[in-house]
Amino acid sequence: MRYFIGNWKMFGVPNSIGILNKINNFVRKDKNNKKYQAIFTPPFTLLESFSKYFTKKAIKIGAQNCYHKDIFSSNTGAISSYMIKNVGAKYVIIGHSDNRFEGDTNQILKSKVAYSLKNNLKVIFCIGENKKEKRKNLTSNILKNQISKVIERKFNQNNLILAYEPIWSIGTGKVPSEKELIRTIKLIKKTLKKIFGTKKIPKVLYGGSVDSKSIKVFKKINELDGFLIGGASKSSKNFIDIIKNYYR
Ligand code: PEP
Repeated sequence: MRYFIGNWKMFGVPNSIGILNKINNFVRKDKNNKKYQAIFTPPFTLLESFSKYFTKKAIKIGAQNCYHKDIFSSNTGAISSYMIKNVGAKYVIIGHSDNRFEGDTNQILKSKVAYSLKNNLKVIFCIGENKKEKRKNLTSNILKNQISKVIERKFNQNNLILAYEPIWSIGTGKVPSEKELIRTIKLIKKTLKKIFGTKKIPKVLYGGSVDSKSIKVFKKINELDGFLIGGASKSSKNFIDIIKNYYR
C-alpha cells in the first residue's frame, strides 16, 4: 500500500470541499486505487465536517497537529488527539518542521505520538534535516536522533507512518538526488528495524516539493512507500496528476 497525503496547512474554507470531492471521484474510479490510500489534512476548522463527509468515501481525513496532553486541558487554543478522534478524523501529522520551529521538542513530540496512538489515530511522524545540517553532513545523525528520541518499540508500528521531509526542500522546488534519497530512506528503515526488532516496520514516505513533474523521478525509488504533499495538494488537478504520473 502506497500513501499520497495532502497537507493543506493554513488553507481552506468550507467550500474548498469541492477540491477533495474531485479527487475523491478520481480515486473512486481509478483502476489503481487498491494500491494506494489518499489522505488529506485540512485545518482544524474543517476537520469535523470533512471527516463526516468522507467517512465512507475513498479518501481519508486527518489533522495537521495535536496538543501533547490527553483528552482536555486548560491550554487556550489547544486541540487534543482525543478531540480529533471524536470528530471522526483518522490520522494526525506530528513533528512537521513548521511545528518544530514553534518549539516542539522531542519530549513533546513523544507525548503527542503516544497520546495519538492511545486515542486510535494513525500518526504521520515527520523528520528532516535543515540546510545547514545537510551542508555539514549531519543528515544521518539528525534523522537517527529524531527517530530514536521519539519512537519506542512499544508503539504499534501498524499505526505509524514516517515522513522524511528535508526542510530545505519544503516549498522550495529543490529535491534530493535519487541516490541521496535512496540512501536516506534505507537509513530510516534500518533505524526503525533496530527499534522495533522486526522486519515489519512503519511505512516511510518522502515530502518536499513533490509535484506532477518531480514524481516521475521519485516513482523509480521502490523503497518509498508514498508521499506527503504540501503546495500541490491544494489543486485537484495537481494532486490527481501526481497519482496519474506515479502509476503511468
Ligand atoms: C510540507 O509542508 O509538508 C510539504 C511537503 O510542502 P511542499 O510539498 O509544498 O514542499
